[in-house]
Amino acid sequence: MKILVFGPQGSGKGTQAELISRKYKLPYIATGDIFRFHIKEGTQLGKKVKSYVDKGELTPGSLTNEIVKDRIQQPDCSVGFVLDGYPRNISQQKFLESIAKIDLVFVINISDTEAVSRLKDRLACKCGLSYHPVNNPPYKKGICNKCGDKLFVRDDDKPAAIKKRLAIYHKETELVLEIYQKSNTLHQINGAQGIEEVFAEIDNIIILYK
Ligand code: ADP
Ligand code: ADP
Ligand code: ZN
Repeated sequence: MKILVFGPQGSGKGTQAELISRKYKLPYIATGDIFRFHIKEGTQLGKKVKSYVDKGELTPGSLTNEIVKDRIQQPDCSVGFVLDGYPRNISQQKFLESIAKIDLVFVINISDTEAVSRLKDRLACKCGLSYHPVNNPPYKKGICNKCGDKLFVRDDDKPAAIKKRLAIYHKETELVLEIYQKSNTLHQINGAQGIEEVFAEIDNIIILYK
């Protein structure tokens, strides 16, 4: 099963993608996590993308396409995958269409006000999980439940970068959704409920599809 998860920043894409991945044993791929890994490790790729990621701008050119192509061709993706953060514009969508047939697309909807309020307190882990002091606290303060690593505040979870990222989502990524709407692969999910309720909505659709 090949699944895409969309939604504005803070809608809970990462949180839900991880739950899908765990239940259905599908690899969870998040392009943002891949970029943050390279930035932290100081690789060539990391140096190339750092200024864009810090500002909340899309990394340019076909860089992300090549990263995704390489990742989904790994053996563990033979069963499918859950992809979060890609494609974000029409050109990436066209590329993805040329390399994979997507089964299900979810868009988690929340207002920008709710998005900003969640992101300003988000705590992230390098394994891709994220937490919130009130909505989704870790068992142990500051430590990831899954991998035990130290949680951190993302450099781009600052008001100016959040604003820019949301604007890009509305302007560029929502156009991609129209394409999946037309091909009847898109499912609208109400993101303004608890994490478990959101997952139940998504899971009901996956169960019907399987
Ligand atoms: P995204 O990947 O869409 O940017 P995240 O999964 O990182 O979103 O979630 C953003 C923040 O909101 C995190 O702090 C997370 O713990 C919290 N969160 C996720 N889902 C919900 C929800 N349904 N209700 C309240 N808070 C949530
Ligand atoms: P966001 O919460 O803004 O969706 P992500 O963790 O998904 O954050 O992505 C972080 C950053 O990584 C983005 O602001 C952008 O700079 C870069 N990035 C991630 N995915 C893509 C993509 N598909 N195309 C271009 N840049 C991307
Ligand atoms: Zn972790």
